[in-house]
Amino acid sequence: MTQTAPGPKTPTTPPPEVIHVHDHRVACDGGGGALGHPRVFLEIGEDGQATCGYCDRLFVLDGDGH
Ligand SMILES: [Zn+2]
Repeated sequence: MTQTAPGPKTPTTPPPEVIHVHDHRVACDGGGGALGHPRVFLEIGEDGQATCGYCDRLFVLDGDGH
């Protein structure tokens, strides 16, 4: 017999922040301040999005001229 545990103890991870940008090249520093990270530049590919390897922010290219 299997029972589903009512209270999973998995930590709640907040969903990655989605940043809408208008350029294929974006810079991310984690938002600056003490919670930031070294500034990195991300190149948005043909899928129209890029993820920051430091803070997992998702950068989505907003519109492409249409
Ligand atoms: Zn970042």
